[in-house]
Amino acid sequence: MKGRECVNDAGALRVTAMIGLLASTLGLAACITVEGQSSGEMKKAMQDSFIFRSADMFYPDGVPDDLDALPELKRKQVKQIQEVLEIFLAGVQKANTEQHEDLSQLFQRDVKENFDAWLVLLNEGQPISQIDPSGEITIDVKIAQAFYRTALIAGLTDSSVGGGNFMSRRFAGDDTTEADIIREFLEIKETVDNTRGQTMIGDVFEGLSDDDMDGSWFTMTDMASDSTAVEEHYFPPMTFLLAHEYGHAVLGHLDAMRGMDDDDCEEFHNMESEADLYAMLVQILHIRKNNPGAFAFPLWSAKIENSLGYQDFFKYTFNLSGFTTEGVAACSHPDPEERRQNLEDLYREIMSG
Ligand SMILES: [Zn+2]
Repeated sequence: MKGRECVNDAGALRVTAMIGLLASTLGLAACITVEGQSSGEMKKAMQDSFIFRSADMFYPDGVPDDLDALPELKRKQVKQIQEVLEIFLAGVQKANTEQHEDLSQLFQRDVKENFDAWLVLLNEGQPISQIDPSGEITIDVKIAQAFYRTALIAGLTDSSVGGGNFMSRRFAGDDTTEADIIREFLEIKETVDNTRGQTMIGDVFEGLSDDDMDGSWFTMTDMASDSTAVEEHYFPPMTFLLAHEYGHAVLGHLDAMRGMDDDDCEEFHNMESEADLYAMLVQILHIRKNNPGAFAFPLWSAKIENSLGYQDFFKYTFNLSGFTTEGVAACSHPDPEERRQNLEDLYREIMSG
């Protein structure tokens, strides 16, 4: 059991290591992921995991009437969110430094090798995510909540593109509401809390005396697979957004963005697509370099795509965050579906060689 020790075992390419290939190849995901062999270890890993703690943060009183409402967060909880975002931002920075030459070639300009960015987490309940020229990335907890909502929805339903999990999903129907999904996850969490966790030896003895597969180990394995599915949709869109903001900085957009007025819509849109493209490419290059085997299996294509985060981000997080395409003055933001489609087309092109 290595989950709590932040060990990099990405080489194994197990299902639990696919949380975001960027993160796993950087050895980051193991710090926050659900892993374990005995029912006791799995129980502890799940209870300690960021996805379980997020349920306490965002749904302290069960399924809320207003799904958009942001509960009041404790200072400690805000700090936990900030720490997780910082882990992924550090991953993006590291990947950028390693890949800046290839990136410079692809963007045909000097992509900065090193750029120090840091994170400020606001607790205002506003759809805010931006980077300023000094390198300060400001994100509101509203966005963090949207990431969690994305993870539950995409993780527990059968998302068609990119999200195909090997395990069967809880929901496959179209009439499932977000409230149903949240309720289901809170039940999963309760089951974990109420199931006795045992050592490997205990699990073996229980398994010997119990042949209807409802013992601790089977229950925990089931719950761990649900949790993993949720986790696989939690961190990738987070990484995507951080990489997008970071991309604005290393691509040299920040000064230009500051001085823009209404006539510069086209330039603004170009910069948005460039930052989207950057967010995808920095991850693909990093994965390709550190885990080339991942690209050898056509089966992994959907997994890799999911780990890039853009599908989940534009399908769910964008709207759940409260982002709109209304921009400043006459300059509207590009349409999220269009942005998603552009990246999907490009991804298909890259994967077909
Ligand atoms: Zn942007």
